[in-house]
This record gives sequence, structure tokens and C-alpha cells, in this order.
Amino acid sequence: MSSTRPRINVVGTGYLGATHAAAMAEMGFEVIGVDSDPAKVAALSRGEVPFFEPGLPELLRRHVESGRLRFTTDLAEATALSDVHFICVGTPQQVASFAANLSYVEEATAGVARNLTHDGIIVGKSTVPVGTGERLRSLIAGLVPDGVDAELVWNPEFLREGKAVEDTLRPDRIVVGGTSDRSEAVLRAVYAAPLATGTPMIVCDLPTAELVKVSANAFLATKISFINAIAEVCEAAGANVSVLADALGHDARIGRQFLNAGLGFGGGCLPKDIRALMYRASELGAFSASSLLQQVDEINMGQRQRIIDMTLDACGGSVLNRRIGVLGAAFKPDTDDVRDSPALNVAAALHLRGAQVVVYDPEASETARRMYPTLSYASELDDAVAGSDALLVLTEWPEFVDADPARLAAIAGVPSLIDGRNCLDPAIWAEAGWQVRSLGRPTVH
Ligand code: NAD
Repeated sequence: MSSTRPRINVVGTGYLGATHAAAMAEMGFEVIGVDSDPAKVAALSRGEVPFFEPGLPELLRRHVESGRLRFTTDLAEATALSDVHFICVGTPQQVASFAANLSYVEEATAGVARNLTHDGIIVGKSTVPVGTGERLRSLIAGLVPDGVDAELVWNPEFLREGKAVEDTLRPDRIVVGGTSDRSEAVLRAVYAAPLATGTPMIVCDLPTAELVKVSANAFLATKISFINAIAEVCEAAGANVSVLADALGHDARIGRQFLNAGLGFGGGCLPKDIRALMYRASELGAFSASSLLQQVDEINMGQRQRIIDMTLDACGGSVLNRRIGVLGAAFKPDTDDVRDSPALNVAAALHLRGAQVVVYDPEASETARRMYPTLSYASELDDAVAGSDALLVLTEWPEFVDADPARLAAIAGVPSLIDGRNCLDPAIWAEAGWQVRSLGRPTVH
């Protein structure tokens, strides 16, 4: 294996893998992306990103056209042609448990190990429970062909959807766990570009690397549930959680990020990652972590009910036959990802209570429609607002934050707003004629 320019195999080309593959090509490597979904491979091979991620289509197209990046469903071919094999497949929550479903990671890792034709380094990037890497090492040992040396290390990924390209090209840290001198040298060559610009590389043991990722997500989730718990106190005491969060955020030890009270977190990562950690901590007998995370999860899920209750209250106790405009379907702005989306969860719950729900999202209507086909989707913001008895802002897209409240008040049936993300200025909206409800802030009109 050449330690200066290893050839890269990326197994699993979803949000993480497609971005990682394109970024590796941008850094100058020959890259093959493998996915078991032929439709995804066909789209990526045409230079089309099958999901919304700012900046990724340009990067992908450039390197598909240059020939440095290609995609296949053939894991054996991709493995034979590569030196470093990144495992980027999904680790969703199991259907009937909080544990992570590791079957995709096991299958992908075993597939690489079985098909190695020369020495290789298998680099886990998927988010996994601590202890997974050690188990995979045993699995690999029984599968690698004679005379071939395979090493497994963990290099968790911290990218944020919506900022995935920037986060991959310029990460704020690189964590690698369980490396030998050889694999550390290869990974330093792979990440030469970000390392050259000062990105720190933390080299540690395998379990620490696995745990850094889930601990980071657990901390962020805890911060969000903390401010939502304080928002409840604010409401009871007549205080304003937005002003409070700004004041807290000036303390450099605390920081302002992830202190926005509201509907809480969702998406394909945070909820399942904290549940998987809760489950794994409990398995390991680390009950402080599991009970803390249980509270974080309960507070978070409770926020969805609080927004539903607020909407019922705004509509006089029932939403039956009321027209409810829902602004936002994605779990956060700048993505079309609707996995475990709080916005869609609330929209669906109101629909079940008999409301006529019209959802508008600038990017996620199609992914939302696939998940909740019974909801109505507007193609323009105004169509969701027109004639509404209540308007809910559930994802803080700039289009909603920048909307003209006076213009929208003129087309709404009843100018009743629920700001589920505390992203609008209540005074300005009230001035335009809206009654504004939000979590942890006084109602204004
Ligand atoms: P995803 O569902 O978008 O992508 C996973 C891909 O893997 C799919 O395209 C699927 O078809 C493919 N796949 C599954 N089994 C395969 C196999 N055996 N061979 C080839 N391809 C296979 O998931 P994602 O959001 O990209 O997440 C992947 C992992 O990265 C998860 O562990 C997640 O927790 C972690 N992660 C995700 C993010 C994020 O923001 N999405 C950030 C950091 C870490």
C-alpha cells in the first residue's frame, strides 16, 4: 500500500458517505463509493445528489466528471481496487429497542474483509456503540483471506447536515482510535489537507474514539433539553427564555449555541444516538449516564406534545376542521432530511385530531410526502398560510424568519402564530396583528 496516496473505498453513500467520498476526491484521492441501493448509485454516477445538501452537487459533479470519483454496487471490485475502506453505512435504532441496529455495519465490514486482495485499513466512520470495533476485529480476523493483513480503526464523523461539505473539508477535529503506527501514518496522509491547516488529530484507543462521537451528541442533546426545561420554568414564572439564553450565552463556559428553546431535536442522528448510548451505558452498568439521557429524551419528546397542546389552546380546545398551516417539515433548516422530524410529528398528530393540515417546506416536501403521504403539501409559503386558523413555524428556515408578518397577516384566516422554534421576533409579529405563542416566552398580541 502506498502511504502517500492510498486509494479510497467508501462503503455506504448516504448523507455521510456521499459527502465523504466527494470530499476525499476534492482532497486529490482516487475514490470509489459503494452502495447496495442501485438507484442511489445510478444517481450519484450521473453526478446527481439524491438528497439536499448545499455545495455537494457542485463537488460531486466536478469529481465524477474528472473521473477521480465513481460509484458502484460491486463491493468486491471496489475493495480490490482500494487501500483504505471507509465504513459509512447507517446505524439506525432497532425496531423494538433503543439499541443500535449494527447489521449494516457488520455486513459492510465483513464484505470488505472477505474481498480484500491486498493489505488494507478498514476505517469505521458510522456512529456505533462502544465495544463495536472490538467485536468487528474478531469478525474480520475470521474472514480476511490468507496472506492479507487487515486493520480496523475507528474515525467517527462529526459533520452536520446542511454544512456537511464544509465540515468534511475543514473539520474542527479528527479523532482516530485503535491505530497502529502504520495505520496512523496512512490516516495522516489521507487527512493531510485539513491537518496542514491546523485541524487537530486526536489519536486514542478504539473505545474512546467510539465514545467521543456519541458523547458529543449526548452533550448537545442535553444542552437543548436543559434550555427546554428552563423554558418551562420561564413560562411558569413569566420570564423570557430567549433573553435568558442570550444572557447565559455570554458566559464563555456555556456558549450561546444549542440554547434555543422550542420544539426540540430530531433527525437521523441525535435521537437514535442518545438512545443507543442510554442502552449501552445501561448494559455496561453505567446507570448515571443512562438515567441522565432518559430524562434528556423524555424532555425532548415532551416538547412536541407541548406544541400540540399550545395549538389546541390557540384553536379554543379543538383543531377539528381547523385549517392549520405548518411551516417546516425538515428536522432542521438546510436539509431535506425528515427522519424523526419534530415538525412532521406535530403536523401528523394535528392531522389525526381532525385538523386540515397544510405543510410547506422549501426543500423537504418530497421526502416528507414519502413519509407522511396523507398530509397536504403546499408548493408556496403563502398557500400554507392562506385561510389558516393557526400558523405553526416548526423549522427555522430563513424564508420563514425573513417573511413579512404584515403580508402574511393579511392572507391568514386568523392571525394566530405558534413559533415552535423561538426564531421570530414576537414584538414585530404582534405589531403586524398576530397573536404570538411560543415556549418559554410570554404570549404577545
Ligand atoms: P444514510 O441512511 O443516509 O446512508 C447509509 C447508506 O448505506 C445508504 O445509502 C444504504 O443504502 C447504504 N448501505 C447500507 N448497507 C450497505 C452495505 N452493506 N453496503 C453498501 N451500502 C450499504 O445514513 P447517514 O445519515 O449517511 O448515516 C450513516 C452513519 O453515519 C450513521 O451511523 C450515522 O449515525 C453516522 N453519521 C451521520 C451523520 C449525518 O449527519 N447524517 C453525521 C455523523 C455521523
